[in-house]
Amino acid sequence: MLDDKDRIFTNVYGFQPWNLEAARKRGDWDDTKALLARGPDQIIEDIKASGLRGRGGAGFPTGMKWSFMPKEPKPGRPSFLVINADESEPGSCKDREIIRHDPHKLIEGALVAGFAMRARAAYIYIRGEFIYEAKVLFAAVEEAYAAGLLGKNAAGSGYDFDVFVHRGAGAYICGEETAQIESLEGKKGQPRLKPPFPAGAGLYGCPTTVNNVESIAVAPTILRRGAAWFAGIGREGNKGTKLFQISGHVNKPCVVEEAMGIPFRELIDRHAGGIRGGWDNLLAVIPGGSSVPLVPAAQIMDAPMDFDGLKALGSGLGTAAVIVMDKSTDIVRAISRLSYFYKHESCGQCTPCREGTGWMWRVMERLRTGEARIDEIDTLLDVTKQVEGHTICALGDAAAWPIQGLLRHFRPEVERRIRERGNDGAMMEAAE
Ligand code: NAD
Ligand code: SF4
Repeated sequence: MLDDKDRIFTNVYGFQPWNLEAARKRGDWDDTKALLARGPDQIIEDIKASGLRGRGGAGFPTGMKWSFMPKEPKPGRPSFLVINADESEPGSCKDREIIRHDPHKLIEGALVAGFAMRARAAYIYIRGEFIYEAKVLFAAVEEAYAAGLLGKNAAGSGYDFDVFVHRGAGAYICGEETAQIESLEGKKGQPRLKPPFPAGAGLYGCPTTVNNVESIAVAPTILRRGAAWFAGIGREGNKGTKLFQISGHVNKPCVVEEAMGIPFRELIDRHAGGIRGGWDNLLAVIPGGSSVPLVPAAQIMDAPMDFDGLKALGSGLGTAAVIVMDKSTDIVRAISRLSYFYKHESCGQCTPCREGTGWMWRVMERLRTGEARIDEIDTLLDVTKQVEGHTICALGDAAAWPIQGLLRHFRPEVERRIRERGNDGAMMEAAE
């Protein structure tokens, strides 16, 4: 369990004001000039040594990502930092809390990260539905400019750095980094093929790094407290603290910062008041936001909640949005609803996703009602495999994986519904 003294987000519940004065009391913007005086290369080395991995879902090593940016930006080709605050993954709600209650952690992080990657400016792309959060963020950025922490000679460092806040317009796909770049450029938010990765050709064709809000907001604290401190929490390959977002059938849904690798049962008992109706009532958990496969109760109880612990169970940490489902859940309906979400949010650019998401959702609905035939289960599984890995962006995978998880762990339940309706294979053969 994480010791209170190791918490980075000390105002995650908003017990104190978000403003600059209160943020300074919490230690933000404390001699940022001295942090920057270490120089860009040292900052990147420190972030690498801390073991920080991207907190937006994919877990790519943050320091390594920063190191892909050019050390000497060419004239007329500035580098940019884009901060992804388009938090839309079902179950995820941590970036919202950071922006609501601790926006200066993010803004100071933007300066530190931007300086380290020699960026001219940061664009914070905030989800359109985050109306209150956008107000807070605009006001906090204004405060930072007024205090000389941004703009010319930011924080007295001699470095000029701007932060712009850009509001999204309600498309999940704009959380995908290249779609976000397209959207920032004023175009329709549709993912680009990678490579080239944004560090090679990003915003306006210039070198760009896209990072999640949490990844950026933790950077100044890591630098102040030292890479070894952060790396001392968690385990190899899964270092540091993480904001977990626990929703669903727990007694006290919450967002809480914990050590990476905390066992699932401990996370829920300590912070979420246990499972509704007791532990015997747990059915399954989606541990990382809707894009990762579910894990049945028996397998997740003692699982370490980190990248490797959940990968070993055929799932993933994703954004650490933990969706808990008890035995009252209609699990087929729950996954069918997610299928509808991905069908709705597909940008339609590539055929396997555009056609496949709709097709998968329609079959999921037939499974939900029991109207499908038994053989449609294997056909559905086959289609998920044809979509997975065959699309421009990860939305295709995200649509396929929840269905694969359902069929891996709950196939007997799916078959039971069909048999109860009398639609099993034998009957179909007889009819033919
Ligand atoms: P990805 O693995 O393709 O990339 C992760 C990051 O690493 C990207 O920034 C990418 O540019 C960089 N990268 C990867 N390989 C690289 C290379 N060889 N060279 C340079 N840079 C490289 O994953 P992704 O498509 O960016 O993200 C998918 C994840 O997003 C999913 O795991 C999902 O959990 C998550 N997600 C989060 C939200 C949210 O609301 N936070 C919403 C949807 C999805
Ligand atoms: Fe668009 Fe889906 Fe293709 Fe991604 S996978 S680019 S969302 S059609």
